[in-house]
Amino acid sequence: MDTSTIQSLEDQFTTGLFTKRPIAIVRGQGAHLWDADGKEYIDCVGGQGAANLGHANPAVAKAIADQAMRLISCPEMFYNDRRADLEQKLCGLTGMGSVYLCNSGTEAVEAAIKFARLLTHRTGIVAAMRGFHGRTMGALSATWESRYREPFLPLVPDFNHIPYNDGAALRAAITDQTAAVILEVVQGEGGVRPGDPDFLRLAQQLCQERGALLIIDEIQTGFGRTGRLFAFQRYGLQPDLLCAAKSIAGGIPMGATLLQSRLGKLPPQVHGSTFGGNPLACAASLAAIDIMVSERLPERAEELGTWFLGQLRQIQSPLIREVRGLGLMVGIELKQKVTPYLQELMARGVLALPAGMTVMRFLPPLVISKEDLGAAAEAVQEVLCA
Ligand SMILES: *Cc1c(COP(=O)(O)O)cnc(C)c1O
Repeated sequence: MDTSTIQSLEDQFTTGLFTKRPIAIVRGQGAHLWDADGKEYIDCVGGQGAANLGHANPAVAKAIADQAMRLISCPEMFYNDRRADLEQKLCGLTGMGSVYLCNSGTEAVEAAIKFARLLTHRTGIVAAMRGFHGRTMGALSATWESRYREPFLPLVPDFNHIPYNDGAALRAAITDQTAAVILEVVQGEGGVRPGDPDFLRLAQQLCQERGALLIIDEIQTGFGRTGRLFAFQRYGLQPDLLCAAKSIAGGIPMGATLLQSRLGKLPPQVHGSTFGGNPLACAASLAAIDIMVSERLPERAEELGTWFLGQLRQIQSPLIREVRGLGLMVGIELKQKVTPYLQELMARGVLALPAGMTVMRFLPPLVISKEDLGAAAEAVQEVLCA
């Protein structure tokens, strides 16, 4: 199918929810993508964070194919070998005690909110301004952006938002009715804003003192993105509840909510998911995690990310307000809207994404070569200095 056929079919039958760019991506390999006209791109969108391993990884593809020939469906009313392996692996890597498996980021957050209410017998949730936690009603209630919230009001009650990195506001917001504080370690959609380590540690301390639970949302920062397997590990944090998704299963849809062992077991039947913990996603996740660890992708993200940030910081452009990031989660805040510059980058063969209206975001697969990152930085320089 050529681009215009693909485009007119999607335009006819899609809901209209998505603002699409006028290319059709049909193939990928590592950090490269190809459109239906055969044009090649350097991918710094990385499946919006789901493609940390890059595209068409043969070990992940083989794990999926093998498992598909063996068993795809197995609800959690039965035990399963792949699920058992994955649960053990996820808990071992994070230091958590138990895990609930689901199918997306928003579901992982939804579960964390429900578990926090269940475990504390409280209702309040404190979240951060510019925080993003998903689009289902509970997760959306924790999300800050009014564009996402307002069409769906009223949302779930007892959520409030404090400024990110504001310790005094946090101290004032956590009460004896607070079930949980939910935070990203680096705010992603909100503009690639790294958390202040002191603020994050204060959140943990205040939660402990006041009987609230700390939910860390690592849906975007997880699985090597920021230079550690999980970003919380940089700061010596120990979340009570940890949300993961995106790159958890090599691009196959999956989410996970992990619980600290001191929280014990949850009562039976109060939550669940038909697809959650299915052997296909579990097999993909096991393969993906093996590669991340054996190929030292977090370390790679740390090294390449530091280098890439350095390259971007050398760009002298009056359009740039700030360059910031952690590992290979990188943002350039402009003094104006980013859309035209992202289009210019695409014309030069580099795909990047926005984070809000004024931040250009780069989430390349962690397997990207230094040459490709250098070429991306050069394209940014051309676009912002034209
Ligand atoms: C993407 C994202 C989510 C939502 O994940 P979905 O799989 O799109 O539901 C939640 N939290 C953060 C931090 C995210 O980046």
